[in-house]
Amino acid sequence: MKKKAIIYLLLCCLLFTIVPVKDTTVEAKTPKKAYITVKEKNCEIGDMFYVKLKGSKAAAYNIADETVASVNTKGKVKTKRAGKTKLVITGKNGKDYTCRINVYDTKRASEQISEKISDCKITAHLTPEEVPYEAYSVKPGMLVNFTNIIRKSGTPKGLVYLKDSEITRKLVWRDYDTCRLQKEVIRPLSEMIDAAYNEGKHKYSIISGGGYRSFETQNRYWQRRMGENPSYGDDPYHSGGVICVPGVSSEHRTGYAIDFDASEQGFDWLEKNSYKYGFIKRYYGNKTEYTGVMDEPYHFTYVGKAVALTCYSEGICLEEYYEKYVYAEYEKN
Ligand SMILES: [Zn+2]
Repeated sequence: MKKKAIIYLLLCCLLFTIVPVKDTTVEAKTPKKAYITVKEKNCEIGDMFYVKLKGSKAAAYNIADETVASVNTKGKVKTKRAGKTKLVITGKNGKDYTCRINVYDTKRASEQISEKISDCKITAHLTPEEVPYEAYSVKPGMLVNFTNIIRKSGTPKGLVYLKDSEITRKLVWRDYDTCRLQKEVIRPLSEMIDAAYNEGKHKYSIISGGGYRSFETQNRYWQRRMGENPSYGDDPYHSGGVICVPGVSSEHRTGYAIDFDASEQGFDWLEKNSYKYGFIKRYYGNKTEYTGVMDEPYHFTYVGKAVALTCYSEGICLEEYYEKYVYAEYEKN
């Protein structure tokens, strides 16, 4: 009897000591850390979604700009117009947790593009007198086409002569004395040409006039086409694209575009690998409704690695990239 009582007493002691001790150690070692379920949300006008706090109860929900979006007492957000705002959830622990909300108006952005496209006839026929001679700034990934024109006829800043630059000896260019490109293109271009040679023994040259081209040169090409056919390029987006663009519309005027000469395998290699060096094949046969230019397996443009990777991995052309990632940004606020 005495033994049983002792065992019972011991068991009770164990139960009453272990249980509370266990509980407090768990709490002390891993205190619950509160977090917000969404830190950033990209969405469109009219979207609804929930943002919640985990690990602490929410005491208050606040939207910085209530004209952009609203929130109810359960964390349900509804977007109202294009713009940027923040949702701040204050926890019962006294801390604030923020979710950035970016509301886009993609419908409006694509309407803007169609408005610009309908403008193309006017801009395509600008005469040299309407294009003042002035230097201009360019940057990788800038959009130059029938509707996004370079309205000056001088020279862009940043050009270098290939013959004066540290370009790979594996690249040949036809107009040895006059070929120019943007300085920042030289290194990625050299690396790309070397890689193509090392990986597949592919060799490349730049065709005559395949680097930077002046407004006058490009416009001469254009005027020749117009002389042959006055309606040339009237509707480039719906006619399968053209091969020659007006002086104000040529990417070659930036110094970022290059026309190569290569074997078919060489062009294939560029199409699949050029994005790693910041280049894109600019004109695909299935994108003429966006570019207005027919398939050009030889024309590559330096747009920088980030833009090139996005275009390549999503299978989109630069016009679509602008529609998706740039024009939507303009719509904010
Ligand atoms: Zn070209």
